[in-house]
Amino acid sequence: MLYLYNSLSRKKEIFKPVKDKRVRMYTCGPTVYAYAHLGNLRTYLAEDLLKRALIFNGYQVKQVMNITDVGHLVSDADSGEDKIELAAKKEKKTSFEIADFYTEYFFSALKKLNIIFPEITAKATEHIKDYINYIKLLEEKGFTYFTSDGIYFDTSKLKDYGKLTGQSFKDLSKNLKAGARIEFSSEKKNITDFALWKFSPQNVKREMEWDSPWGKGFPGWHIECAVISLKYLGNCFQNGKFYPEKFETIDIHCGGIDHIPIHHTNEIAEVESLTKKPMARFWFHVNFLVLKETRMGKSEGNALLIEDIEKNTFSPLAFRYLSLTTHYRMPLEFSFESLKGAENSLREIYNFIENCLWEKKFLKNKQNKAFSLKKYSKDFEEAINNDLNTPQALSVLWNLISRYNKVKKDQKKISQLSPSAVYQLLLSFDKVLGLDFKKIKLPKIKKEVQSMVKERENLRKQKKWQAADNYREKIKEKGYLVEDTIFGPRVTKINE
Ligand SMILES: [Zn+2]
Repeated sequence: MLYLYNSLSRKKEIFKPVKDKRVRMYTCGPTVYAYAHLGNLRTYLAEDLLKRALIFNGYQVKQVMNITDVGHLVSDADSGEDKIELAAKKEKKTSFEIADFYTEYFFSALKKLNIIFPEITAKATEHIKDYINYIKLLEEKGFTYFTSDGIYFDTSKLKDYGKLTGQSFKDLSKNLKAGARIEFSSEKKNITDFALWKFSPQNVKREMEWDSPWGKGFPGWHIECAVISLKYLGNCFQNGKFYPEKFETIDIHCGGIDHIPIHHTNEIAEVESLTKKPMARFWFHVNFLVLKETRMGKSEGNALLIEDIEKNTFSPLAFRYLSLTTHYRMPLEFSFESLKGAENSLREIYNFIENCLWEKKFLKNKQNKAFSLKKYSKDFEEAINNDLNTPQALSVLWNLISRYNKVKKDQKKISQLSPSAVYQLLLSFDKVLGLDFKKIKLPKIKKEVQSMVKERENLRKQKKWQAADNYREKIKEKGYLVEDTIFGPRVTKINE
């Protein structure tokens, strides 16, 4: 049974898909105006973990992710310039070039982190007609009004507006007013109202603008996610049209915790006003990546990229390991020291796996009789199914490794080990962890080195230790290490 924390109810609940064994999952994608930094990527890693945990539990997952290539303004609340157009001006490129470039970069980052690709990725600019159609429906039902800078959503028309934040409409308005971050245009009826369609500023030619029944302009950021999730997951889109009354609540909607007060709150308003059904059963939110207590972000000027990790000779998967050491709802503290710790741990696991592969040549038991593996498998599953408790799951993995290594030291019990069963169990853990255990293979050893190892063995049998040691050095020069084990000499490649 999988328990997940639901931001909407503010408690852990048993997860069950709305329909069958199929999970419809929506993840808010990147705004492609800059490099996706480690803080952004932490969110995608946690969402990938969620997806893997669902698959681990036997569900089929259909994940949709939007790519915001227009409409995300500098302020989340409809003011300031479009982030992409601003970047285009700065980099002297077109907005489309900017979006393409950073989208490709984002995809490559997902790949490096071994993140399973969403079944559908949807560019915001490729769905303009859909937004217009949907806004028309909102207009027909009286949820919109006209201002000089766009078509706005009237949030006072929804009785539970803001429910995701746990605040009433009144409190939310009061708090927004107190936080002077948001300008309150006099044409807005309520401070919480937001743009569905923004008009292009007069006398300014925008690169990204489209005709609409209300005037030339571009979509608001929230309508993009609302419409894309409805179109691909809501089972209410046919022949180019939305049928909100047919909508089927989506299983999970994901994003960073910063999306709760504005972006997700407004998506809910747009969808639920017409469908009269909950937009999603579960709201899954990931906490920030922090550097000594400040959030990592582009606006904070402290954003690090995967390349910064690689420059410091760490592997991207060490960052993935690091992200698993903290629960996704807690801030993840990043430092190069902690990354180094993660890298060392990961290497140790890889070495252990390589060890299993080697030892299974000598210990051919199908079952591990030295101790029961069931307990580890059950503990791991329990940890993951308890709202993705990865720190706990990792400790199960480490306990397994140390138990195995301990038994290995016991001459009487060693023959009861099954390296192959332990290896298989680790592979099953990795379906959730995503640390690419499968890529670990025994190194191919050159024939030349193989015969040197044999020669060294002969010398050892003749107790010619000095000569044997000389061979060890020669083998080292060829890039390999020899270690004498109870199963004979084991050869490993020296890591560059
Ligand atoms: Zn979104």
